[in-house]
Amino acid sequence: MRIALDTHTHSVASGHAYSTIDDMASGARRAGLAGFVLTDHGPAMPGTTHHYHFGNLRVLPRRVKGVRFFAGVEANILDTEGRLDLDDRHLGRLDFVLAGLHEICLPPMDRERNTLALVRALENPFVDAISHPGNPAFPVDARAVVLAAWANGKAIELNEGSFRVRTGSKPNCLEIARLCAETGTLIVCGTDSHYKDHVGRFPNVKALLREARVPKELVVNRSLAAFEAFLDRRAADRKRQATHPGT
Ligand SMILES: [Zn+2]
Ligand SMILES: [Zn+2]
Repeated sequence: MRIALDTHTHSVASGHAYSTIDDMASGARRAGLAGFVLTDHGPAMPGTTHHYHFGNLRVLPRRVKGVRFFAGVEANILDTEGRLDLDDRHLGRLDFVLAGLHEICLPPMDRERNTLALVRALENPFVDAISHPGNPAFPVDARAVVLAAWANGKAIELNEGSFRVRTGSKPNCLEIARLCAETGTLIVCGTDSHYKDHVGRFPNVKALLREARVPKELVVNRSLAAFEAFLDRRAADRKRQATHPGT
């Protein structure tokens, strides 16, 4: 299966990543991608950037180094209410919002509370997808998380970086991919690159998609058109939920 965009990348602004936006864009082009989403870590991550970074991403062109650029964030989930470290005004300016659990921002809790944090984040109208829910440091009820994504029209991420840095993720990611296939829940594939040469390289995620027999229609970044259609629908949902909370 082709993955046309990388929906999870970090630039030097994240503090522990090592390439500029231009370099990440060149990396995306070398990997044959049509585009990428810049998802630097939200302000609660030590060493990352200030919220001004996210407010000002709109000064960037829509194409960088020949590929489509999307402005995003990997926001930190701060509690079991799914509260995030970026306010709605900033989130609303971004094309794509990932939310995820990181030990430095929210120490792992029991399975029930980890699950609740992800489910509540998925109920936030501004969140488009959950990053690396297969992280074994945060045990979750995978079915409950996948069903929450399904119910809210959100996506679940399969994260290539988990195979490098979150050891033990594979069985969880396989279970999650199978649950997505079974329930018809959307998937985004992100590399979680912190360096330009990792952008757009998905060997483990592609093998996982095959092993879990995920229909390609569920992968929202299989093409630029499919990803833009997903973002258009999400933008409409955000607007509707802002006008009629609870719908
Ligand atoms: Zn990082
Ligand atoms: Zn992360």
